[in-house]
Amino acid sequence: MAAAVAALLCASRVRAEAPAAMPAPVLTLPFDGVWGVLQGFEGDTHHGYAAFAIDFAPPQDVGAFARLAHPRLEDFACYGRPLFAPADGRVVRVATRFPDLPPYAHEPKRKSRLAKDETLGGNFVIIQHAPHVYTELVHLKLGSVRVTVGQLVHRGEAIGACGNSGNARTPHLHLGLLSSIDPIATARMPIAGYEARGADGRWTPGDGEPKTGQWVRPAPPPSPLPQSSGR
Ligand SMILES: [Zn+2]
Repeated sequence: MAAAVAALLCASRVRAEAPAAMPAPVLTLPFDGVWGVLQGFEGDTHHGYAAFAIDFAPPQDVGAFARLAHPRLEDFACYGRPLFAPADGRVVRVATRFPDLPPYAHEPKRKSRLAKDETLGGNFVIIQHAPHVYTELVHLKLGSVRVTVGQLVHRGEAIGACGNSGNARTPHLHLGLLSSIDPIATARMPIAGYEARGADGRWTPGDGEPKTGQWVRPAPPPSPLPQSSGR
């Protein structure tokens, strides 16, 4: 009984002293320049634990590559492009030993067999930004991952490069939004600080959810303050 009372007192003290809820971290696009959204939230392969994930690749007509006998990874604009931390955080998981597979090695019709394959994710980095906010960057190029578990990273810091490891048909970035990593759980979270290109070719501020078929790019930084003319 005494222990229970003590626990209650302790719990109420903890509650009384708990700081106000922390604002959710702002997540931004993990790349430079214009990229296309191959697949948005709850897309063809984005369901279950990967429902709230987005596949990106720089816009490029790759239709002709598919008909080549031996398309090269280097022909894809995405391959080797640098990727950055979407917000400040701590690296909590990495995988670094998987090879980049030839383009189109993973065809959709083979998905059921591949579902049992441990190498599905290929090389990846998972960063924790807040208690229930994680991002995962997946299909990274072999040898490109430059962070280790436990390392603190800042928004915009290079963490690796786009590749074709894991179950990727062609080089692209799978950006997963996670609320837990043990077990893996996904959650809808907004992306901030970007612009989307409309059908009329105009760029306008994104609404927080990059959607399949859109082109997106990081919003330009605010204009610098006018320079003082005095010297
Ligand atoms: Zn994906």
